This record gives sequence, C-alpha cells and structure tokens, in this order.
Amino acid sequence: MNKDNIQTNLLFDQQHIWHPYTSAINPLPCYQVVKAEGVYIHLASGEKLVDGVSSWWTAIHGYNHPELNKAVQEQTQDFSHVMFGGLTHQPAIDLCRTLIDITPSGLDRVFLADSGSVSVEVAMKMALQYWACQGNGNKHKFITPRNGYHGDTFAAMSVCDPVNGMHSLFTDSLNQQIFAPSPQTRFDKQWNEDDIASLEELIHNHHHELAALIIEPIVQNAGGMRIYHPEYLKRCRQLCDDYGLLLICDEIATGFGRTGKLFACEHADISPDIMCLGKALTGGYMTLAATLCSEDVAQGVCQGEPGVFMHGPTFMGNALACAVANASLKLIQQGDWQQQVAQIEQQLKNDLLPCKNLESVADVRVLGAIGVVETKSAVNVAEIQKEFVKQGVWIRPFGKLVYIMPPYIISQPQLKQLTSAIYKALKNNK
Ligand SMILES: *Cc1c(COP(=O)(O)O)cnc(C)c1O
Repeated sequence: MNKDNIQTNLLFDQQHIWHPYTSAINPLPCYQVVKAEGVYIHLASGEKLVDGVSSWWTAIHGYNHPELNKAVQEQTQDFSHVMFGGLTHQPAIDLCRTLIDITPSGLDRVFLADSGSVSVEVAMKMALQYWACQGNGNKHKFITPRNGYHGDTFAAMSVCDPVNGMHSLFTDSLNQQIFAPSPQTRFDKQWNEDDIASLEELIHNHHHELAALIIEPIVQNAGGMRIYHPEYLKRCRQLCDDYGLLLICDEIATGFGRTGKLFACEHADISPDIMCLGKALTGGYMTLAATLCSEDVAQGVCQGEPGVFMHGPTFMGNALACAVANASLKLIQQGDWQQQVAQIEQQLKNDLLPCKNLESVADVRVLGAIGVVETKSAVNVAEIQKEFVKQGVWIRPFGKLVYIMPPYIISQPQLKQLTSAIYKALKNNK
C-alpha cells in the first residue's frame, strides 16, 4: 500500500476509532495489517512480523489456516446464523459434544456465549441463581485472589484485581467482592502451606455470603502473568467443597493446550463446578465462548422459581463460529499441540533465561507456550513496540510485562527471532 494511503488511514483511525486500553485523545500508534498467514502478520508498510501474541491467545494454529478457512466457507453455503431460541443445528451440537468430552469430568451442560466476558457474566449469574433458587439468597458474593483478570463487563470487572481494574473509579457501580492475597508459591517450587492460609481464613469467615470462588487456574494472565503452584488450585477445590461454595475456573486464556495440558485444571487434577472457555476456542477466527457447568449446577439453577436461566445473547450459538471451533478442535484432537507446546516450553526456558542477567529484568517465567519477562520498571510500549517491529516481530508488552504466547505451529528459528528480539530490546532498555 502506498505511504499516503497508509498515513490517511492511520490518521482517521487515530481521530475516530477506539482501540483496546488506550486513550482516545492521545492514542498509542497503530500498525495497519493487510494479511496474516501462518505465524506472520504482514503490515501495509511492507514489514512481515513473527507473531508472538497469537492475537491475544487465540490464533493457536496460525493465521489463514486452510482447514479453518474451509470450515467457514462451507458453513456459509448452508447458513451463517440462525437464532438459537427454539432452533438448533449440527455445528452447535458437535461443538458442545466435543467440549463435554474433552473438558474435566462432570461438566455436562454448555451455555454458548459470544465473548469471554459474557461467559464470565453467565458463570457468575448461574452461581447466584443456584443459591437463590435454594433459598440461599444471602450467598451473593464472590471471593477471588488478587491479580486476577476475568473480563471488562461489570460483573467480570468486580472480580478483576482491584488495583489493575481501577476499582476506585467505579466503587459506586461495582459489586464489592472479597479479595484474597494472590497465590505466592511458584509452579515449580516447593509448596508452602502458608500460601493457602489467608484464603482459608476469608472463606471460613465469609462462607455464609459467598456464592463462589472464581479463579484462573495455574496462570493468572492479564492481571500479572503469574504462574502458581497446582496445590493452590487443589486446595481451592477442597475449600469450596468444605464450605459450600461453587468453584468457577476461568480457562479463557489457559484452555486448549496453552499451559502444556489441554486445560490448566488438569495440572491439579480437579474439576470445577463451572468453567469458562473462550479465546482459542475458534482458533482465532471469531468471537465465541462457552460456560460449562455440572449437572448439579444446572439442576439447582432451574429448579423451582423462576425455572429458567434468563440469559440469551442474540448471536448465541452462531453457526459460523461453531463450525470454525469444530475445525479448530479437530486440529487439537490430532494431538500435535502436545509436542509443539512441549518444544516451545523447552526453547522458551533456554532462550529467555539469559534475560535474567539483564539489569532491567526482575524475573523470567515460563509454562507451556507462555514466556514472561518481568522488568523492574514499566516499559515504554510505543517505543519498545517500534523496536520490535524493526526487528520483525510482533510483541505487545503491558506495564512491566514483556510476554509471548506464540502460535503452536511456530518453528524453532521463528521462536528464536522472538526471544532474541526481547533480549535485545531489554538490553538497550535502561
Ligand atoms: C481475555 C479474558 C477474558 C475476557 O474475554 P473477552 O473475550 O475479551 O471478553 C476473561 N477471562 C480471562 C482469563 C481472559 O484471559
């Protein structure tokens, strides 16, 4: 594309279009994309970037995938969408069957939602209704560890980290939930019994008013990219059983192999009562999410009055999204991801470790196909991004976190390009 056209486009964009988590009046620079294929994002200005972010955890099989393209194209020949009220279809039935099959045992009911945040709203609403329908309306709060992230809608916001989530701005409109300290024992370190003590005490003191514990299993993602010990999650399950709370696991970021297990819950060998899925569900093609729950939760929600679950997005069960999700899950079920993610993990451990010696770096952590370099002070996103683009990679840091979660199909040299770019950029960073 010629330079003037790009400039005109970007100027319009800057003056009229909101982008995620930026200012409308002083926005961060944007780059125009014209094509994406495999692990590459092609910019209008001609650069070809190795993608380190999988478009926020979604494009696990890479871009422009022939099987996924085919699924979308074929489904459009039949129909793209029909309302889900009173109608159903094969793509949705196949998808829900597979999800029930591959998720931890006991999750037998599926609510198809249209985004991760909505699936969290649905999960929280189910938990509230579950208790209300059993005459336990006083169980209407949620407990969650700090440093969590569960989405940007209001109920989801109320269980995001209160500092990162800017709760002080919204105190009058946000439900007040109960926050426990975030888990401290790292994934691969010796479990420390003290780590669960505060959560246990809070649950002990508040269980009469608690509907559920909501947590991201094993990896706290956008709230700090923290990777914690599986025993913590095991104990969450135990505490929920002991004190009569539902356990909601938000696997929206961790689901579908990212942490080295198909679902992060498997690291702790637990099943939640309610589970949220999203992000990689459609292999990065379009928005779709799901809230799965146990038979007990479904029965509890729908017994007595009002007898229904009052939620039903217009685009619920969108057939195009279900069709492409089915194609993505087929690729997952072929099983190559296991070796791919294990290899990425090994290489991330080797290649990112040297960053630890850099003066600007506070910590390096890796699990599955997730690599995190935490810096001592916040990075200048616009500046470092410019340097990354110059080096031919797409990485989008936030705050003190420079992290990558590449498509599973990334090759060794391509991944090397990402890790070298991080090392170089942070070496130059004072
Ligand atoms: C991204 C994310 C969400 C929100 O999903 P959206 O599709 O952006 O609404 C919720 N929970 C977790 C853990 C996430 O990573």
